[in-house]
Amino acid sequence: MALLATATVAFKTINTQIRNRSFLPLQKHLSLSSSLSSFSFFRTVSGRAMELERKNSTVIDENGVLKKGIAEFYDESSAIWEDIWGDHMHHGFYPPDSTVSLSDHRAAQIQMIEQALRFASIPLEDERKWPKKIVDVGCGIGGSSRYLTQKFGATAVGITLSPVQVQRANALAAAQGLANKCIAVALQDLVWFEILNLELFRRPFCEMGTGQVSFQVADALDQPFPDGQFDLVWSMESGEHMPDKAKFVSELARVAAPGATIIIVTWCHRDLGPDEESLKPWEEKHLKKICDAFYLPAWCSTADYVRLLESLSLQDIKSEDWSPYVAPFWPAVIRSALSWKGLTSLLRSGLKTIKGALAMPLMIEGFKKDLIKFAIITCRKPE
Ligand code: SAH
Repeated sequence: MALLATATVAFKTINTQIRNRSFLPLQKHLSLSSSLSSFSFFRTVSGRAMELERKNSTVIDENGVLKKGIAEFYDESSAIWEDIWGDHMHHGFYPPDSTVSLSDHRAAQIQMIEQALRFASIPLEDERKWPKKIVDVGCGIGGSSRYLTQKFGATAVGITLSPVQVQRANALAAAQGLANKCIAVALQDLVWFEILNLELFRRPFCEMGTGQVSFQVADALDQPFPDGQFDLVWSMESGEHMPDKAKFVSELARVAAPGATIIIVTWCHRDLGPDEESLKPWEEKHLKKICDAFYLPAWCSTADYVRLLESLSLQDIKSEDWSPYVAPFWPAVIRSALSWKGLTSLLRSGLKTIKGALAMPLMIEGFKKDLIKFAIITCRKPE
C-alpha cells in the first residue's frame, strides 16, 4: 500500500505537470535533442523522460491491479451481501432520536440517502427543481440509482468496475420496470423520427426522462460521459476506493451540469491537526490492514476533499462527520455474518469475501479510536 501511495503521488505530480504544461518544455527539448550540442544534457533529459514514463507505467500497473482487485471483490461478494442485506451496499443512518428501528437496516439505508439529499439542500418540496439526470458513481448493484430514479422520476446511469454488479443492477432495474428500453435508439434515428413524425417510435425515447436507469462497467476516474451532463452527481461509499482523489473529484465536477449538485459520502481518516504532517504510525498500520482487506488505496481526510473541491472553484461546499449516526452499522453486519445464513454464505463465498468479513472489527475499532470518519461532502457546480 505504501508503494501504491508513493506511486499515486508520482502520478499526481505527472498529472499536475501535464495540466500546468510544465511537461511540454521537456517534450520540446526531446524533439530538439538532435540539434543540441550537449549529449550529456540530452541523456539527462531523456533519462528523466524515461524515468517519468517508468513511474507512470508503474502507477498504471498498480492502479490496474487495484481495479482488478476491486472488480473481483465485488464480483465475488455482491450476491451474498444482497442475499443478507439487500440491494444497498452502504451504511445505514441511525439518528439517536429517530423512529428508525435499530433492526430495520434497510430503512436506515434509505435514511442515509434521504439525509444526504437534505444535507445537500436538494429542494425536495419543489418538484420542478428535482434532479432529472443522475449519475451514480460506484453504483454497486444500483440501489441508490433505482431509489433516486423512482423518487425523482429521473433518468440515472450507474457505473461500477464489477461486471457481475452491472448484470445484477440491470436485471433488478428490468424487474422493476425501470430498464432503459430506449438505450439502443441512436441520435440519427431520433432525427428521422422527427422528420417522418413517427410518434410511435419517438415515444419510448421521450420517456427516457421518466424513471429509467441503466448500468455499465466504467472507471470513475475516466468516466465515459461528455462534460456537463448530470444535474445530480452521486457517489455513495465509492470514493474510498479511488487511488487518485484529485482525478476522482475533477471527474465528478466535469460530468456535472452547471448548477448541478455533487454528493460524496465516503470513508475518510480524521483531519490532521495544525502541527501534524501525517497520521501516527499505528494509525497508518491500522488503515493499511483495512486497505488490504477491502481493496482500498491510501485514505485522505474530509479536509482534503474540501480543499480539492475548493481548488475546482465549486460552490456551497459543506461537509459533516456522520460517524455517530452510522455507529450501529458494523456491529449489525457482524451479527448477520455470524448468523447461520451468514456463516454458510460466507463459507460458500471466496477468500476475498472472507478476508473482508474478518476485517470488519477493524472498522469498529477505527471509528471508536476516532481514526475513521464517515463523511459527507457536498457542493454545487457554478451556473
Ligand atoms: N454506491 C453503492 C455501492 C458501494 S460499494 C451502494 O451504495 O450500494 C463501492 C462501489 O464502488 C462498487 O460498486 C465498486 O465497483 C465501485 N468502484 C470502486 N472503484 C471504482 C472505480 N474506479 N470506478 C467505478 N466504480 C468503482
